[in-house]
Amino acid sequence: MFDPLTFGTEKCTGVEDFLRPEHLITEQDRMVVRTIRDFVDKEVLPHEKEFDDYWDWTEREEHTFIHDLKQKLYVDLGFQKTLIPEEYGGLGMYSLVSANLVVEELVRGDLGLTTEATMNLWGVLPFVPPTPNEYLIKEFAPKLCGDKPFQVASCLTEPQGGGSVEDLALKGKYLQTTCRLEGNEWVINGHKRWPSAYRTADLYRVLCRVEGEEFPRNIAQLYVVADAPGISTSKPYMKMGCNIDTNGDVWFDDVRTPKEYRAHPDPMEDLKSLIVNETLGRAMPTTGKTLGIMKRAYQILKEWVDQREIAGRPMKEHGVVVHELGQIAADIMAAEAFVYSVAYRFDHPEVYGEPWDFKNLVVSDACKKTVGDLGWRMVDRALDLMGSFGYSREGRMEKLLRDIKITQLWVGGPLLYLTELSRYYFGTETL
Ligand SMILES: Cc1cc2nc3c(=O)[nH]c(=O)nc-3n(C[C@H](O)[C@H](O)[C@H](O)COP(=O)(O)OP(=O)(O)OC[C@H]3O[C@@H](n4cnc5c(N)ncnc54)[C@H](O)[C@@H]3O)c2cc1C
Repeated sequence: MFDPLTFGTEKCTGVEDFLRPEHLITEQDRMVVRTIRDFVDKEVLPHEKEFDDYWDWTEREEHTFIHDLKQKLYVDLGFQKTLIPEEYGGLGMYSLVSANLVVEELVRGDLGLTTEATMNLWGVLPFVPPTPNEYLIKEFAPKLCGDKPFQVASCLTEPQGGGSVEDLALKGKYLQTTCRLEGNEWVINGHKRWPSAYRTADLYRVLCRVEGEEFPRNIAQLYVVADAPGISTSKPYMKMGCNIDTNGDVWFDDVRTPKEYRAHPDPMEDLKSLIVNETLGRAMPTTGKTLGIMKRAYQILKEWVDQREIAGRPMKEHGVVVHELGQIAADIMAAEAFVYSVAYRFDHPEVYGEPWDFKNLVVSDACKKTVGDLGWRMVDRALDLMGSFGYSREGRMEKLLRDIKITQLWVGGPLLYLTELSRYYFGTETL
């Protein structure tokens, strides 16, 4: 009922009260989101200030709370079987709207934990719909639907650069990790860097150049069990943020894997699936991660401005602060609108085109670039408003600033997104 006397006095009801697309959210999504929210509030956020100290958790001998969180998330809450079809014991969920809702919720707890977990989605995606590889689904469903965490890591980036490997217009020319078919096995040689979750990986997806083949038959995504002879790894890198996710070097020295472990036996299907992986990997769940960090920053900032005073007046009543807070709210809304409009498009290829269309890759690029920039600006602003407390671990905001930076950088890097946009919209041919 419209009441002119109260108009303008209504207040935000929480993180769902920005531009959440309620009309796209199913009852099942709501149930899953509630479960994840409960998990994050009760079991993840109590460790919020500890995560950075555990950057080396995989190198420690003792059992840590990270192991417990992974068991709960991957197995008890079923995260690792999300994409596996129901007939193989999985959840069979492919909606990007649903995926973003879950990721957004989970990342409020910790970006590194979320990144390890979503590596299973990104790593498994190449062999599930839209073009399922029944052999690989059958092969790995028992592990992914089993009672222990099973980790998939994706090895694309190489020492000479991730952008040139992920720039598909370069036609695989700069991929230095090679593979060749010998009898019933692929033999892989090369050096990869940075794969997320590499230290706990049970299975690697490795992007390779096929020896002796020309584009478009020269790029293969091969799966290799992590304990295959010939694989060696470095110690984890010490990073600026996203610390529970482990990143390092992986060397492949005459590593053998079955012929059937290619994401798709048909090279054209394999290439299409790689493009889908790039398109979805950039927009989702990365942008959902950025949005989730923004919402956590909002919660922390709100607590701060609710109690902080400047010159005897509530901080949030000073004109200059009001401007900043208004801008923050607008940035969260803009990010959320972009994330879900793109997720909805990808859920409807019958209207917006196949996920391997170049147009969809550039949509993804624009979304990741813009949402990343909004996220960085928003958290930076929030940190400023908290002064030195924002800059200290106690304030919890500085972690979010460090974490959000990587959501701008990974999967090819921001200049690649702009290059692809420029190629599509202006016919740029550089690089
Ligand atoms: C926490 C974390 C997790 C990661 N997870 C993974 C993972 O799971 N798997 C994996 O393979 N890698 C992963 N990476 C690596 C990441 O994807 C790369 O760092 C990223 O792709 C950029 O590659 P680069 O660092 O080699 O920079 P470069 O390739 O040297 O790029 C530097 C800049 O140049 C631009 N650039 C490069 N090439 C082009 C081009 N052709 N056209 C236009 N611009 C270009 C880039 O966009 C970027 O802005 C991760 C990195 C981090 C920090």
